[in-house]
Amino acid sequence: MSASRSTPERYAEPIDGWRVWRLGRTRRGSWALLPMFRDVPWEPGTAVEAVCTSRPGEHASPDAGCACGLYAMKAPDDLGSIDRIPGVIGTVSLWGRVVEHADGFRAQFAYPDRLRLACKPCLLGGTEPLPECEVVFLSASEGWVAACAQHRPRGQGIVAHPATSVQANLLGRYGVDPLPAELPVEGRPTQPAGTPGLRLALTKRSRWRAAVKAAVAVLLVTAVVVGLREAGRIAPPGVPPLSSPSAATP
Ligand SMILES: [Zn+2]
Ligand SMILES: [Zn+2]
Repeated sequence: MSASRSTPERYAEPIDGWRVWRLGRTRRGSWALLPMFRDVPWEPGTAVEAVCTSRPGEHASPDAGCACGLYAMKAPDDLGSIDRIPGVIGTVSLWGRVVEHADGFRAQFAYPDRLRLACKPCLLGGTEPLPECEVVFLSASEGWVAACAQHRPRGQGIVAHPATSVQANLLGRYGVDPLPAELPVEGRPTQPAGTPGLRLALTKRSRWRAAVKAAVAVLLVTAVVVGLREAGRIAPPGVPPLSSPSAATP
């Protein structure tokens, strides 16, 4: 993400970003979204909240002068430099405090919006539409990855799961819709913050979309109430948390 920074803004409407995740597996055999550089999965049904781990307790996350926050890019093309191997690409809803960069966002809250299993070479090579994948266990360090028939690793002992069952499990657990196999056209202009892309605007929004909007509304009402209390110099009784985030992950 580029270095152009702005001060955090509080967004009244959830905005869309693009992300990739690694695939995690729970002890019960369900599938989970893992951030690229941490092993704490995003919990289904729970808004993920950012916490600064580089300067804990110094500021609310994200902060304009820090690198913390939940990352998302403005367009799939901006996902270009991915060091590790993702298994899933998708859109996310971002809300709360948001720092906008030239090519992406760092947000306080995030939740997946649409998901699709994706093969890394196909993703970075701009293959359209994204081919069907299998989910294979690659190594202890890389874990489970999605791979198309052309890029599937060969070898003894590689365990494979069909994409349809893994993706159905993911979509069901997180309560979201599938991402279309055809991503927005490469090189298209990025959308202004808060403006859904044409393709996304034409398709059904996920069930979580309504929940996110409701959470934002509660956040704004809470902010107004707290503001009124502070204006009246009445001690606030403590604002209940909006969610019980379990992970704070870039
Ligand atoms: Zn920070
Ligand atoms: Zn491939």
